[in-house]
Amino acid sequence: MNKYTKNDILSILQAKNSDIITYMEETKKYRKNNLITYSKNVFIPLTEICRNDCRYCNFKKDSSDPEAIILKTKKEILDELKIAERYGCKEAMFAFGEDADEDNAVLKRLKQFGYESMIDYIVDICQMTLDETTLLPHTNGGNFSFDDLKRLKEVNASMGLMLENSSPRLMELPTHNKSPGKDPKLRIETITNAGKLKIPYTTGILIGIGENIEEIAESLIEIKKISDEYGHIQEIIIQNFTPTPGIEMEDWPQPSLLDMIRTVTAATLLFGDSDVSIQVPPNLNYDTAQVFLLCGGDDWGGVSPVSKDYVNPTSPWPTIDVLEKLTNDAGFELIERLCIYEKYINDEWLNENLLEKSANLLKHR
Ligand code: SF4
Repeated sequence: MNKYTKNDILSILQAKNSDIITYMEETKKYRKNNLITYSKNVFIPLTEICRNDCRYCNFKKDSSDPEAIILKTKKEILDELKIAERYGCKEAMFAFGEDADEDNAVLKRLKQFGYESMIDYIVDICQMTLDETTLLPHTNGGNFSFDDLKRLKEVNASMGLMLENSSPRLMELPTHNKSPGKDPKLRIETITNAGKLKIPYTTGILIGIGENIEEIAESLIEIKKISDEYGHIQEIIIQNFTPTPGIEMEDWPQPSLLDMIRTVTAATLLFGDSDVSIQVPPNLNYDTAQVFLLCGGDDWGGVSPVSKDYVNPTSPWPTIDVLEKLTNDAGFELIERLCIYEKYINDEWLNENLLEKSANLLKHR
């Protein structure tokens, strides 16, 4: 049983002076080894169209934009997967806008390709990945119904959806007031359904989008509650909002380094006795990433040698060599993992095909 109460988490999130260092020190007792993991992936945005309109979004494009990816063809996707395979990538990260088939341009393209809906296309793309490459699909495309998740489970080694924040108050703010899919009730339902279906899962919080400290604490506690019940949460991402020119929230302040340190520390201590990794994206914290390893961070997430981070296009990933140097310099060892964590590679979590492919990749890591 975890001993950290909401008040404890609030104290960590508000710590000052040397209390911050004391809490960071406390995370050491939960570190199981000296290893920091990452997954070598290719990021393939199937579409850049999204029904939501988050004001911090760097990803979504309007279907009238001539530069927008309306829907990638199977051939385009397979070509990218084959290049990624040659570079030793093991994860095919399919990330894309939510319910893109509500847009007529996407629906028209789907019909031209012989599909009725996005979910039919996604399932086929994941199946193609399994049939024609060694990569493991990991889909992150917003909320899905229970039945859609059930289909996706059969062709994905793992999946993900950021909770971002559990507070409905954010739906009233410019941040999310045009994003029905960011309703925390829906997102909690999706993450919970993934647990019921035994899908190894990635989630996390986004800080600096108008939430307060109490809402950060409650969001972490909500994820912990779901994780304790279903055991499918393999990692929690602590992501910092980073303003970039051209987005609607470009003038919003970004979280300070100490805000990030306190949040990563709080997450580590809350999840301390669970087997859940704490991930901090190194490309959003280029100069400060190492310090998060000292607050319990033990995963860098997906890093691609072949594609950009389409969600944060102005923040390139460090190369794996640079990541290794940063990790070693902080006193740790960098090790590659798959998009599915090793403890889930068994027949309780995977069908026969996914189990065989994952086990094989694990051997040749
Ligand atoms: S849901 Fe994601 S892709 Fe869609 S607008 Fe929001 S941040 Fe952008």
